Amino acid sequence: MAIDLKNLTIEKAHAALVRGDFTAVALAQAYLDVIASKNKEINAYLEVYNDVIEQAKVADARLAAKTDVTMLTGISFAIKDNILIKGRIATSASKILEGFQAPYDATVIEKLKKAGAVFIGRTNMDEFAMGGSTENSAFGVTKNPYDTSRVAGGSSGGSAAAVAMDGALAALGSDTGGSIRQPASYCGLVGLKPTYGAVSRNGVMAMGSSLDQIGPFAKTVGDAEIIFNTIRGQDPLDSTTITAETFSPKRLGKTKPIIGIINYESGVDARVMEKFNEAVAKYEKAGYEVRRGITIPDIDYSLAVYYVVMPAEVSSNLARFDGVRFGFHKDGKNGIDDYFETRGAGFGKEARRRILLGTYVLSSGYYDAYYNRAIALRRTITAGFEKAFEGVDIIMTPTAPSPAFKIGEKVSDPVAMYLEDIFTVPANLTGMPAISVPAGFAGDLPVGIQLTARHGDEKTLFEAGKDFYGI
Ligand code: GLN
Repeated sequence: MAIDLKNLTIEKAHAALVRGDFTAVALAQAYLDVIASKNKEINAYLEVYNDVIEQAKVADARLAAKTDVTMLTGISFAIKDNILIKGRIATSASKILEGFQAPYDATVIEKLKKAGAVFIGRTNMDEFAMGGSTENSAFGVTKNPYDTSRVAGGSSGGSAAAVAMDGALAALGSDTGGSIRQPASYCGLVGLKPTYGAVSRNGVMAMGSSLDQIGPFAKTVGDAEIIFNTIRGQDPLDSTTITAETFSPKRLGKTKPIIGIINYESGVDARVMEKFNEAVAKYEKAGYEVRRGITIPDIDYSLAVYYVVMPAEVSSNLARFDGVRFGFHKDGKNGIDDYFETRGAGFGKEARRRILLGTYVLSSGYYDAYYNRAIALRRTITAGFEKAFEGVDIIMTPTAPSPAFKIGEKVSDPVAMYLEDIFTVPANLTGMPAISVPAGFAGDLPVGIQLTARHGDEKTLFEAGKDFYGI
């Protein structure tokens, strides 16, 4: 029986695997066949593992024995190239880590392995997760499966494209300023950025440590919820992690969550606005209370704050790539020159730009003027969101100001690229959870809406996200 990959979800696949309609091996093989025909053009995967069928056989044995069977046993996953899987290559799509072999499993991987997931391969991304189009990868751009002249988004563009082209049933990505939600929006998928600390960052290459979270790409909100529940939890190896009980968010809406809308003046593509307004109307029709005109003081500074805080953290996190400890090395005239040569040749343009920017905002003469002011604003923005959540349960915005743009369209203008993150960065600055849910198409291109909730309130996001399909 040919497996209908297009309409498959984790929930359906799990039922089929348990019933014996197909095996995990057959499922993995179906994805490998798609990859064989499509990956050359799409470039979603940087590497497809050569033991996929062996992994699937182990899952089948578990299913046959009916022991330790979870919703993810035998489910095929694509994994972003900045997440460590023991013994496998992980490069963050950077030349500086070419050939680097992971010495241990990231906590999220350990959890997925325990659940019986099958790893198909590692996916393309912007170098060290810096970007919004996967054009900053050292290994070529990832194309959008809906229109191959366009980007799949970024930085987790490979993970999004892998699922969207039916090259995996689900994927993991990382989100520092929107890198799960924006590519999910561009590729017609659900993408979740969990509450800061909900998911362990142990074994994930750090970009901006106070902003980074790992999360799922999936075809449905229900699938994203299954993955989130599997990978979440406190971890002794990441002291910033929290338990499910750390926050006990109180719901205001009696029957359904109350949705708040922030007034954004301009800069949003008319087709995106149309889908957004349709989504608002749908929720209202379904009996949701929608409050317009929500204001959050200083929210307009979010992007500026992010582009100070993030590079500051990047510059310090990437200092470890010195040509001695990891991956690539280039000889210079002496020790310090080795460092310059290695980093000059190993890092791409965007990585170097951000290291310089971050070093600058942290330098003694400018620390107060930039970094400290950004930190202060980050606090007021967070307080503003907390205040807004005294009146609503969800804040809804578009996920990105436009649908997927053309490959090359924004490469020469980094600020235009940064503007794509306008709606997504607040959730990283505040640590609040946010989900992107498909909201239809602008022509042939998918468009997403973003729902943000209080700290620890993924439950409300899942509920409202699921309702959206039914209305
Ligand atoms: N596009 C954003 C950036 O370039 C977000 C990246 C991310 O979330 N990793 O920083």
